[in-house]
Amino acid sequence: MPFRSGFVCILGRPNAGKSTLLNALVGEKLAIISPKPQTTRNRIQGVVHVPNRKGKNTGGQIVLIDTPGVHKPDSTLGRKMMVEVREALEGCDLVLVIMDVTQKLDPRDLYALDLLKHSKTKAFLILNKVDLIREKAKLLPLIEQYRKLYKFSEVIPISALKRTGLEALLDLIIAALPAGPAYFPEDQVTDQPARFMAAEIVREQVLLNTQEELPYATTVIVDGYEEGARLTRIAATIYCEREGQKGILVGKGGLMLKKIGTAARYQIERMLGTKVFLELFVKVEARWRDSRRFVDELDWRRQLELRMQDQGRKTV
Ligand code: GDP
Ligand code: MG
Repeated sequence: MPFRSGFVCILGRPNAGKSTLLNALVGEKLAIISPKPQTTRNRIQGVVHVPNRKGKNTGGQIVLIDTPGVHKPDSTLGRKMMVEVREALEGCDLVLVIMDVTQKLDPRDLYALDLLKHSKTKAFLILNKVDLIREKAKLLPLIEQYRKLYKFSEVIPISALKRTGLEALLDLIIAALPAGPAYFPEDQVTDQPARFMAAEIVREQVLLNTQEELPYATTVIVDGYEEGARLTRIAATIYCEREGQKGILVGKGGLMLKKIGTAARYQIERMLGTKVFLELFVKVEARWRDSRRFVDELDWRRQLELRMQDQGRKTV
């Protein structure tokens, strides 16, 4: 059997478990996770290398694309997040529509299905969080509702968190992909720069340690990044929108910032395999969510392109 490969987009409303599924299938933490909606702000590629296994049809490479949750945007940031979703859908070979089986179908699901209808791509319906449902028969009406809305070629129950149903899912994905080459070398699992992942890890700690509006009001930008063989020095700024929020992020005697920094440093050390010196700052930037400059900063793909064009110009 030929080697198969392709791009597979994970689509769904906020909190369905898209990023948890990406991490589980790749086997490494590439996307940050939190119980808060809109944790993921841009599209994230993760590469699954599937070996040729005995008794299975074929080996292959799956390039998964995790996307921000589908929602109605109310800021420049939100609109940029939805552009990321549409770009991920463009030209992919298969879409995994992921739903949380503990939730009823709502307008965000319909909006996600609308996007899919426009792309007309082959799609699987993934029923996630089945670990939370005791009576599986309860799923049937929900499946019926979805099936009326799109012609899914497979319906697959999983638990991304408990990692059940994933082997079957991988087999079905591989079988649905065309014969093709590996797009990434064996040892590469993502296209995200380490510098961006470091910013995301800090942001995850902010999300996990703060409540109410603060998770949505913050963004993290890495200002300095020097990677050495033994030690990586990182300076990053957490931006929020108001003085009161800054007070919470810094905490009494700087305790909150210290907690965020310690937890993030530990994770970045695991990711890089070096010691990390992490310096964190907190700044107020009212309405950053509507600032082009800040929203562009999230788009590291474009930033890299611009930098390369810039370098090209300098060397010519
Ligand atoms: P996303 O917004 O779709 O990327 O969702 P996340 O992957 O960030 O997950 C949102 C929340 O759902 C987190 O608290 C996850 O731990 C939780 N979650 C994800 N998958 C499962 C699952 O299979 N079972 C359970 N019980 N929780 C899950
Ligand atoms: Mg996510």
